[in-house]
Amino acid sequence: MTTAETAHSVRDALAGIEIRSQAFIDGEYVPALSGETFDCVTPITGETIARIAACGPADVDRAVRGARAAFEAGSWSRRSPKERKRALGRLASLIEEHGEELALLETVDMGKPIRDARRVDIPLAAECIAYYAEAIDKVYDELAPTDPSAVVMVVREPLGVVGAVVPWNFPLLMAAWKVGPALATGNSVILKPAEQSPLTALRLAELAAEAGIPAGVLQVVPGFGETAGQALGRHPGVDMIAFTGSTEVGKLFLRYAGESNMKRVALECGGKSPHIVTADCDLEAAATAVAWGIFYNQGEVCNAGSRLLVHRSVKEELLERVRKVAEGIRPGNPLDPKTRMGAIVDEAQLERVLGYIEAGKEEGAELLLGGSRALEETGGFYVEPTVLDRVRNDMRVAREEIFGPVLATIEFGDLDEAVAIANDSVYGLAAAIWTNDVNVAHVAARRLRAGVVWVNTFDRGDISAPFGGFKQSGFGRDKSIHALEKFTDLKSIWIQLRQ
Ligand code: NAD
Repeated sequence: MTTAETAHSVRDALAGIEIRSQAFIDGEYVPALSGETFDCVTPITGETIARIAACGPADVDRAVRGARAAFEAGSWSRRSPKERKRALGRLASLIEEHGEELALLETVDMGKPIRDARRVDIPLAAECIAYYAEAIDKVYDELAPTDPSAVVMVVREPLGVVGAVVPWNFPLLMAAWKVGPALATGNSVILKPAEQSPLTALRLAELAAEAGIPAGVLQVVPGFGETAGQALGRHPGVDMIAFTGSTEVGKLFLRYAGESNMKRVALECGGKSPHIVTADCDLEAAATAVAWGIFYNQGEVCNAGSRLLVHRSVKEELLERVRKVAEGIRPGNPLDPKTRMGAIVDEAQLERVLGYIEAGKEEGAELLLGGSRALEETGGFYVEPTVLDRVRNDMRVAREEIFGPVLATIEFGDLDEAVAIANDSVYGLAAAIWTNDVNVAHVAARRLRAGVVWVNTFDRGDISAPFGGFKQSGFGRDKSIHALEKFTDLKSIWIQLRQ
């Protein structure tokens, strides 16, 4: 792939697509009040492809006022569930209809293979919105079983104004996980995409308006975390923050809430998920899952299986098989439909990943595969699939989230040791175990401290299954009917009866 070919493919992909670069506030695209913009750089070539409105506190304040006005007016919040269902259903269809455009925007913006954007990100975002559209006229409130002198209704009400702050690794899908249930329950939503990946969120706002979602109900404020993100987190008019991102920033949102209006906070944060391979399992299937579990989406996956815990009797054989799978996963131009591994989101993240590989080697890990930058001649940001062996669980590469294609291999002797190493982490997002023993499967699944545990598979999910973390991987759950809970408050209405 030459520089010219790659640059050409980016220009071709964007031909005919109007990139939305302004904030979407109160039903229209507007520049930031300051007039400031930031560069949207494609990691495929390192070129700037758009200048995006850099929203700050004044823009966020404007959006909050619009969101509040819409909420109070009831144009969405008091519409019947059936009406909200229709509009959200239309939005899901529009996402599908514009799937190719959204997939191209996603790939150019953050570097994931177009194959994955087409097959995974965009269809799952549409499915998520459709799921909450369908769900909302099928959930019932409750009557409390008090004594018969009263009727006590236990009802769920929308919170009001929800700030959704999302990361760059699955930009549209993470937005859909928040926007779907928050809108379905009647809230007004202000979406703050990551500064690395604002393009699909900005287009989503327009599609939502086309679907009939009223002005002020879904707004998008692009901008930096410390400015736009912090302004949402501290705004007294925001009732809830639904956040997906790093644990470090998740903690900041707890502080913002405490120092402002005690807004509700739901956090989906980082992970360092253990992928346990016992001696008694299908090693070939495990090796494929181990490799894809860390190299999919360039390793930029919150639940990536970044710690391989393998029984010492099968370690050499497993690593040999992982190496064979990994050798078939070469970084390439994300716009090529055959590419299975794309570009790292930006230069800072590239340096961070390479820095961790060096730190691992310095701490005594052995580099088995990869370890270097790739395709530097394109101007883009690519890293080879990397496998480290002889890692100890106290090394930085085992404790800290790298968020790149770097597998850290740790060996164990028995199940107790494997579970102890797996749980020895501040994170608890996901875990997996490969075993043919049903007893081991059940015992380990219960003892592993993680929000999701996979047995004999990895990274499987469904919109009907809750997703989220234990420990410092966060709290609150995305996906499933349970996600509706965090966007609503319970109210007890006590009606005393005359006998
Ligand atoms: P990040 O925490 O740096 O940023 C996430 C969002 O927070 C962005 O919109 C960013 O602009 C904003 N932000 C950054 N600094 C801020 C500040 N000081 N105040 C307010 N807002 C701020 O995370 P990222 O680098 O975009 O994404 C990677 C992280 O996301 C990883 O830790 C990954 O594990 C996590 N993640 C978690 C899940 C999950 O479901 N648990 C899913 C995807 C990603």
